[in-house]
Amino acid sequence: MKELLFFSHNQKKIEEINKIFTSNITKIHNLNSFKNIQEPKETGETFSANAKIKSSYGQKKFNMPCFADDSGFCVEALNDKPGVQSKRFLEKFSSDSDAFDYIITNVRKKNNDKAFFVTAISLTLNTNHHIIFLGRIDGKVSLEPLGENGFGYDPIFIPVNYKKTFAEMGSKQKNKISHRMIAVTKLQSFLF
Ligand code: IMP
Repeated sequence: MKELLFFSHNQKKIEEINKIFTSNITKIHNLNSFKNIQEPKETGETFSANAKIKSSYGQKKFNMPCFADDSGFCVEALNDKPGVQSKRFLEKFSSDSDAFDYIITNVRKKNNDKAFFVTAISLTLNTNHHIIFLGRIDGKVSLEPLGENGFGYDPIFIPVNYKKTFAEMGSKQKNKISHRMIAVTKLQSFLF
């Protein structure tokens, strides 16, 4: 495979992907190389469905093998929500801190702090040929938000076997164990 498209405008993700993919046989494009590319609506009910919407759209539009990812945070005390709504859930509150309070209150109420992050990557090789790679990391909700690094729900997630939240870890340590890294590593071993 000589060319591959990563269907994302997100510079942080693009840098992460470029660091991992060291193959000089395959050129990895991303959406920032093209002008005015609209992203399709993520109307799926699962991470895999949303990733597939994006990878099939990209493959069709550019006529090139394409992969895309979709991720989120799942809290047992909230019946595994916010899940696929993770981004919209944070936006509903006036601050991340209010959203974290809501989650922590429910965790306390249900006496269940279990939580996990998921990433689904969909690779569309050609029309109707999609392969899904999943990454998941289990852990618990921290009863107070801690740390300044990372983004999203990182200040309230402590991975299993660790004492620090993702936001207290440096990006190097987080990226060694994260849901995204697990999924990307599976994609890479499939491709190369
Ligand atoms: P995306 O599909 O990777 O853009 O993720 C959707 C949302 O899930 C993000 O806006 C974050 O709120 C949350 N999320 C996904 N991955 C992470 C992570 O590694 N740390 C914290 N929050 C995350």
